[in-house]
Amino acid sequence: MNKVVIALGSNLGDSRQTLEDALIALNQIPGIKVLKTSGWYQTKPVGPPQADYLNGCAILEVQQTPEELLSLLQATELQFGRVRGEKWAARTLDLDIILYEDLILDHPLLKIPHPLFTERAFVLVPLAEIAGDWVDPRSENAIAKLAQNVDCSGVKKII
Ligand code: ATP
Ligand code: CA
Ligand code: CA
Repeated sequence: MNKVVIALGSNLGDSRQTLEDALIALNQIPGIKVLKTSGWYQTKPVGPPQADYLNGCAILEVQQTPEELLSLLQATELQFGRVRGEKWAARTLDLDIILYEDLILDHPLLKIPHPLFTERAFVLVPLAEIAGDWVDPRSENAIAKLAQNVDCSGVKKII
């Protein structure tokens, strides 16, 4: 069994419903168990001008390899109506692998830890809620510490 952190995001449609339903759908996949989830945060978008996002994080226990998990997450995004547009465009559901145990993976299609997560308050703030002690294997800093080093002004807890 492997412990994994994923980040969830949405800024199209009924985001809260989508994120909650996505967690239920992931938990129903054989080999995946949702162990812990953060609250939901309203956050300012990066990239092209678009609506605010709703973001959160979850800790999963998975039997799948990182590659298998990525493909299941991408299938779940499609199931919830994700359409591939320009980079960082608005989307109904975005599911990213942030951490997978203490693995460092640098494949063109899959990078773990997620290459930008240490700069992203919309990932670090919810993550600090549920995994403050987890150490990022790249920087060797704990999540709680990383969260203190980013500007959190665009990240507001709604629930
Ligand atoms: P960002 O990666 O900056 O958060 P994004 O989530 O909008 O951007 P997507 O269009 O959802 O980017 O994904 C682009 C590609 O990123 C995916 O097809 C996938 O192969 C790749 N990728 C690399 N590392 C990861 C990861 N850790 N989690 C999810 N996707 C990843
Ligand atoms: Ca993303
Ligand atoms: Ca993504």
